[in-house]
Amino acid sequence: MQIPRSTHRTAAAPRSEAPADAALVASRLEDLHVEARTELDHGDALELLVATVLSAQTTDVRVNQVTPELFSRWPDPAALAGAEEAAVAEVVRPLGMGPTRARRIIALAQELLARHGGRVPDDQAGGAAVPGGGRKTAQVVRGAWFGHSLLAVDTHVGRLSRRLGWTTQNDPRKVEEDVVARMEADGTGADAEELTVLGLRLILHGRRVCTARAPRCGQCVLSDLCPRVGVS
Ligand code: SF4
Repeated sequence: MQIPRSTHRTAAAPRSEAPADAALVASRLEDLHVEARTELDHGDALELLVATVLSAQTTDVRVNQVTPELFSRWPDPAALAGAEEAAVAEVVRPLGMGPTRARRIIALAQELLARHGGRVPDDQAGGAAVPGGGRKTAQVVRGAWFGHSLLAVDTHVGRLSRRLGWTTQNDPRKVEEDVVARMEADGTGADAEELTVLGLRLILHGRRVCTARAPRCGQCVLSDLCPRVGVS
């Protein structure tokens, strides 16, 4: 990844005592990660849902390597629902747990046909209930495809929210509540698409800079704002 020149710092700025200002964080991440979008390649809601389910315990890059063939051979819920498990497993095998992943996405397609008229549901309960899905999966699809203002709290968003001092919680629902409260307190638009976009940028920042084991505070554009909670 090419890091913009402004982030080429040699030492982290002094550690802030207070939670990072959410409006400033959002603004700086917007400058750094201009294109806020999920890194899972997709062309419609079904592809995003399937790719999100497949991304469990692997990386988006790997998922993107198998989905072109997957989506080309089984392009809609009916095709995927009737697919032969072994054939799907062979395509997703590079991700590991090929048979399990194949069963999951075939069951997902069957569920869409049986309960949702072959469409990806645009509601939290329906999206969370599909096989292989869950709260985060539903939020990713509803936020990134259907345009809802949602914070999909994955491992990166949770970790950054804690390090930035916005929450002490681990439960994704509580993390989301705390981040929304922080955004409102700091005068940024938690009620618009800002929340979804901020979440996507936090994920990018967590992958590229504020990694779990070795956060690069010395090169971080949030260095002067961030209390770095839990970072030694
Ligand atoms: S890398 Fe993470 S912990 Fe370090 S300053 Fe940036 S956001 Fe804070």
